[in-house]
Amino acid sequence: MKTFAEIDLIAPLQRALVDEKYEIPTPIQAQTVPAALSGRDVLGCAQTGTGKTAAFALPILDRLGKQNPPSKPNCPQVLVLAPTRELAIQIGDSFATYGKHLPIRHVMVYGGVSQTSQVRALSRGAHILVATPGRLLDLMNQGYIHLHHLQVFVLDEADRMLDMGFLPDLKKIIKQLPENRQSLFFSATMPPNIIELSQRLLTNPTSVNVTPKSTSVERIEQQVYHVERDGKRDLLKTILTRPDVDRAIVFSRTKRGANMLAQKLLLSGIKAAAIHGNKSQGARQRALEAFRTKQVEVLVATDVAARGIDIDGVTHVINYDLPAEPESYVHRIGRTGRAGAAGLAISFCGSDERSDLHAIEKLIGQKIPLAPGQPAPPPVSAQSKPADAPRGARGNSRHRHTPNSGPGPQRTTGRGSTEASATDGKPKPRRRRKGTQRRQQSGQASS
Ligand code: AMP
Repeated sequence: MKTFAEIDLIAPLQRALVDEKYEIPTPIQAQTVPAALSGRDVLGCAQTGTGKTAAFALPILDRLGKQNPPSKPNCPQVLVLAPTRELAIQIGDSFATYGKHLPIRHVMVYGGVSQTSQVRALSRGAHILVATPGRLLDLMNQGYIHLHHLQVFVLDEADRMLDMGFLPDLKKIIKQLPENRQSLFFSATMPPNIIELSQRLLTNPTSVNVTPKSTSVERIEQQVYHVERDGKRDLLKTILTRPDVDRAIVFSRTKRGANMLAQKLLLSGIKAAAIHGNKSQGARQRALEAFRTKQVEVLVATDVAARGIDIDGVTHVINYDLPAEPESYVHRIGRTGRAGAAGLAISFCGSDERSDLHAIEKLIGQKIPLAPGQPAPPPVSAQSKPADAPRGARGNSRHRHTPNSGPGPQRTTGRGSTEASATDGKPKPRRRRKGTQRRQQSGQASS
């Protein structure tokens, strides 16, 4: 396997990699960096946690470092599009880290905050612009961003971008890209609409595929506790106070649940913070920073808020509630075990969540082992849906409980306000039609 020292990157980048203690390129880097350095377009199938940010950031910085071009006001040479502000900020941070020995400027633009400082930064000139689609388009329409000097275009997490309803914005942005450019396209999954979009954007790309769903799953140790709702909180406290838990992310299905849980943990002396879509951008960043710097040991998160969180050294992911979408389980547990490190993912499964557990096990192609010392759970009740029931029915089996529908505890938290339904615009089989429309709008506005 090649080391970074053997890859033809300019000296300031090599120094930054040494500073970061990166020696061996991850698989996506090993394949993407040489192709992108040679000027090829790249179609990368990879999730966060695989090292894909450096896979595109290093060749971009290499190109700019060699050219050493002046930065022009409002005319970036590189555009990186990301679906969420958190991801945009992380990408910006990565450019700062890898480019710290280079005179390359980057600017980030994203919604949810005033545009004033972003406009000011753009007018001072930047080589690299990292943006979310909504705010980018806004600023382009106001004449603050022109793309005619663009050399490289990166689309990151393309599938998530379409899930969030950004396709119309994307199409408008793509129309303004110059013909002659390099394009690097990344997506965790490659459904037909993503392939179609990639064909529109890429010319004779090198295809790189490093994320068979199981890679991260295989590396992460998984355990399940069969525990009812009223026992979950005590179990959580017991686990979080174990000495092997250094940094943990606890997943809650709802924003309200995340808030309540964080408060209860704080009351019992565990330094916790909640992060979800109702929190302001500032509050989310503060919580992430506190977690990163270990002032906070436990982050209680909802699925959407946790997307793109890239913090090294998360030792434990705890699914306080199992996700309704089995794919979310893979995303959740991928917050631990970053870039080759080991991690432990613990799931709490109530009797009313048994069908969700089966759906997850079916997706990942393995049975999640019982936590050590745990007895086998009592048999599944007749009311639980089998794992191979139709997707809508299966994913929402819990929402269908009526007062007479089974022995599982009834959930009293507001189902209509799940995080996913509030912010990501992903069409899900839900009861309220109106809510779907609201989701779509807020997903776009949050860019
Ligand atoms: P990403 O997939 O870009 O979100 O990166 C996941 C994590 O892996 C980040 O925290 C990076 O700092 C880290 N990382 C990326 N590339 C390497 C590497 N070659 N060696 C060690 N760590 C890496």
